[in-house]
Amino acid sequence: MIKPLVSGNWKMNGLRAAVTEAAKVRDSLREKPAVPDVMICPPATLLPVLTSGLEGTGILVGGQDCHTAASGAHTGDISAEMLKDAGANAVIVGHSERRADHGELSHIVSKKAEAAHRADLIAIVCVGETAGERAAGLTMTVVARQLSQSLPASATMSNTVVAYEPVWAIGTGLTPTPDDVAQVHAGIRNLLGERFNDGGQFRILYGGSVKPDNASQLMTVENVDGALVGGASLKAEDFLGIIRCYET
Ligand code: PEP
Repeated sequence: MIKPLVSGNWKMNGLRAAVTEAAKVRDSLREKPAVPDVMICPPATLLPVLTSGLEGTGILVGGQDCHTAASGAHTGDISAEMLKDAGANAVIVGHSERRADHGELSHIVSKKAEAAHRADLIAIVCVGETAGERAAGLTMTVVARQLSQSLPASATMSNTVVAYEPVWAIGTGLTPTPDDVAQVHAGIRNLLGERFNDGGQFRILYGGSVKPDNASQLMTVENVDGALVGGASLKAEDFLGIIRCYET
């Protein structure tokens, strides 16, 4: 049995006042513990305040990107070791917004995942096709290629989570059908099983317009082991609605 993970990705949103949303999640989970593991990935500026505010609650905290190197002359970048030092448990790598906005190719994503492992962080490795690739019938081809090139040999079920995020579903309100999600997740599961001894045990998250009202449907699809949530993770009420979908 794989324990699901619901992880919020705040992206470039959140000033210090946003910490109250995390506090609301914390308070609710204190009253009634969550079924899945829960994680929040705030902007790096909020990592220390969030990690201290959530200490002892079991809620995990993650960064949204890291450099491949541990330190050095890389102005503006943050290393996995720095995230670890700020209290992070994990880091998202290869998000489609990084791939698109920063030209991050899969071999760089793989090095970032390796850096996460080096720093004892869980790497949440994102893959997903664009609308054009989907229309051309290339979904599984693209996902398989990204997966094989983005996962380093150091990946295990404990230090790596795969997030399938169709690019066209991110922030659009659109979602694939449960059948489509099932097909891609089964494909990912097979590929992980072929490459890694413990490939059957990796968590495979779905991400892309997960909301409280579609969470139950998406989270009960076979081989969906949780969610990576963008917009709906910014408000505690919505995020909790997704976390609580496992209780119904
Ligand atoms: C994301 O960016 O990881 C994401 C899934 O965003 P949203 O939930 O807003 O579609």
